[in-house]
Amino acid sequence: MRVNIILACTECKQRNYATRKNKKNDPERLEVNKYCKFCKKHTAHKETR
Ligand SMILES: [Zn+2]
Repeated sequence: MRVNIILACTECKQRNYATRKNKKNDPERLEVNKYCKFCKKHTAHKETR
């Protein structure tokens, strides 16, 4: 059930984080607040493929 995902900054679209999620717990597209070194601040990061 675990899948690899990539988190991309919603502001600059840079792919900053690679992580894993459990499809059972998160069937929807994951969105997390994380630090973006390109924006130099915390931004929303969305799961991408
Ligand atoms: Zn960014």
